[in-house]
Amino acid sequence: MPATNAQTMSSTASDTRDPCVVCGGTDFVRRFPSSPEPIVGEKHDEPYRITHSERQLVGGIERCTDCGMEFLPLSYQPDASYSDAADPYYLEQADERIINSHRLLDLAPSGGRLLEIGCAVGFLLRAARDRGFETVGVEMSEWASGIARDQFDLDVRCGTLEQAALEADSFDVVVLADVIEHLTDPASTVREIRRVLKPGGRLVLLTPDAGSLLAKLLGTRWWGLLDDHYFYFSRSTLRRFLENEGFEVEVLKALGREFPLSHWLFKLTQYSEFAHRLIAGGAEAVGLAERRVSVNLGDMMACVARKN
Ligand SMILES: [Zn+2]
Repeated sequence: MPATNAQTMSSTASDTRDPCVVCGGTDFVRRFPSSPEPIVGEKHDEPYRITHSERQLVGGIERCTDCGMEFLPLSYQPDASYSDAADPYYLEQADERIINSHRLLDLAPSGGRLLEIGCAVGFLLRAARDRGFETVGVEMSEWASGIARDQFDLDVRCGTLEQAALEADSFDVVVLADVIEHLTDPASTVREIRRVLKPGGRLVLLTPDAGSLLAKLLGTRWWGLLDDHYFYFSRSTLRRFLENEGFEVEVLKALGREFPLSHWLFKLTQYSEFAHRLIAGGAEAVGLAERRVSVNLGDMMACVARKN
């Protein structure tokens, strides 16, 4: 695309966008100028599922020319249908998700009170409880929060973090795992997290790394670019964002995750249907499909940040 067209788009975008969530900049360019713009509404007739991974929407993603922060502008974001989302397949992943939760919790000191925002059915809260934490969860989905309370006996409140109206300075750890990329206003959520954390308390955060080598190599085909992922942090933009909000970043690293081989192979369908059929068929034939495999592709980043 000629530079003049890109500049036209940039200035049009600047007129209608909120300032950059990281640096306050107001000049943006399309991340993938050759991809068609998303058509809002077209792809949202099916209900949201936590485990969905097939709906990509890359045409509208923009990048701040000052700091490199990438995001899907508000005008492309669908009406939330998550509050009544049910996702039975997610429940089948209990073992792996609890193992992965322990990996994340290994990064922060154990003990005291832990809050998880967007805790789903409470796999991480169960792991935290086993490590000696007193746990509280906040979850938008009535389906998921109901399971957390009824099946796992967890203190999980259905609604937003703000609706939970938690006490100031009352948590040692707040976890935001696979959540910040879905928020429409991450700055206000992080301010509320800071308010409820005790002085010196930790925010433990997990999100796709849009600046990772894999994300760069795969471009529009990277799995992390989804229509309900609004904010695409890199290590540098995440660090700057958290420091602006009064946190000191203590840990920032790629974190591997463990899932059955069939889960990783399913992700391959996004890149090559042929390769997926070939490898998945082979794995099933020799009985490996359900074996758990730990993979670290370097494109999921874990962060521990201390409240200053
Ligand atoms: Zn910026």
